[in-house]
Amino acid sequence: MYLNRIRQHLYLFNNECTQAIKIVCNPYLRTLLMKPIQDIFPQLAQPRKVVVTMHQKPDADAMGSSLGLTHFLKLLGHQVTVISPTNWAKWLDWMPGCKEVVDYELNKAKADKILDETEWLFCLDFNIFHRTKSLASKLAEIQCVKVLIDHHQEPDTISFNYGISDVLKSSTCEMIYDFIIGSGKGELINETISECLYAGIITDTGSFRFPSTSANVHRMVADLKTKGLQHSKIHENLFDNFLESKLRFTGHVLLNRMEILYEYNTALIAIPKFDLLKYHVKTGDTEGLVNFPQTIQGIKLVGFVIDRDEERKWSFRSKGGFDCNTFARKYFNGGGHYNASGGHSSDSLEVTVKKFKQALKENESLLQ
Ligand code: 5GP
Ligand code: MN
Repeated sequence: MYLNRIRQHLYLFNNECTQAIKIVCNPYLRTLLMKPIQDIFPQLAQPRKVVVTMHQKPDADAMGSSLGLTHFLKLLGHQVTVISPTNWAKWLDWMPGCKEVVDYELNKAKADKILDETEWLFCLDFNIFHRTKSLASKLAEIQCVKVLIDHHQEPDTISFNYGISDVLKSSTCEMIYDFIIGSGKGELINETISECLYAGIITDTGSFRFPSTSANVHRMVADLKTKGLQHSKIHENLFDNFLESKLRFTGHVLLNRMEILYEYNTALIAIPKFDLLKYHVKTGDTEGLVNFPQTIQGIKLVGFVIDRDEERKWSFRSKGGFDCNTFARKYFNGGGHYNASGGHSSDSLEVTVKKFKQALKENESLLQ
């Protein structure tokens, strides 16, 4: 409890202090405060109240890892609730357990009560509380054992009691598989758990194409197959599960909203609010669009921005040697991975696009 108080103060301090102070402090605090994930294994035998949460607007990796872990913990006798900070794409609803996930924005009072009573909190597929939007202050405030399992860069490890952060991992789903195997309970992996984990592995590796797809990823999938996974069914659920309007919208975006800036080997897609209304675009409908321009010869960077009500939301993708994480951090309040990152801006769509083009100018040499 005493360490939790320190942790809470450090979280607030860390949010406010300058980058320079963070850099000095963090390596020391890291080793001081976050214990290795293996240290929690002996404690799994005793049933507890557990909450599992993930980043806002969860994708298949965030939802799949949360549900995969949840099914595993339930088999061990724990009482588990999954809380999502926001809503999620409808086409994730097929995942076993998805219907029981609590949407924090819709059920704040109920979720707050569960969080107040929880003994363990698992934070999956995000690296710092503010990635959970309005849930962030509650996660920082509650006094329970907090566990991080994530693969994003620069984790805020001072906020967690136990955890593992590994940027080399293909997906948080791979890390949940490692967690289950590491706990010595691999025999509990069944078809239900396999389906959840496979969904996140497929989407976060771009169907096994990104460099993070290690031999271990393939070995893990082979193991999931032996445990009953029907992979074709999951591919259909993930990729053949949309409404006509989404496909029409995709056609419109590629034809009318994509700009190719050959001098910077960059593609830009900017989607105005008008389009979102006209095509009835819902949460998750824009996912994957950012990948299309990468199929054009020579394109090294893709910038993709949506004019959401509350902010302009950026996604970045790169191939090879352009660091999207640094780019998103430097110009758009964001972060993520080396080849895939995101950010946001309170500027208008027009202004944020102008800033993107200015940023390209400053990075011209890195984009050749
Ligand atoms: P996407 O473009 O698919 O939304 O996100 C790509 C990657 O960047 C994901 O790993 C996601 O977690 C991360 N990311 C997206 N938006 C943000 C953001 O605003 N801040 C940070 N730190 N990471 C982000
Ligand atoms: Mn992920």
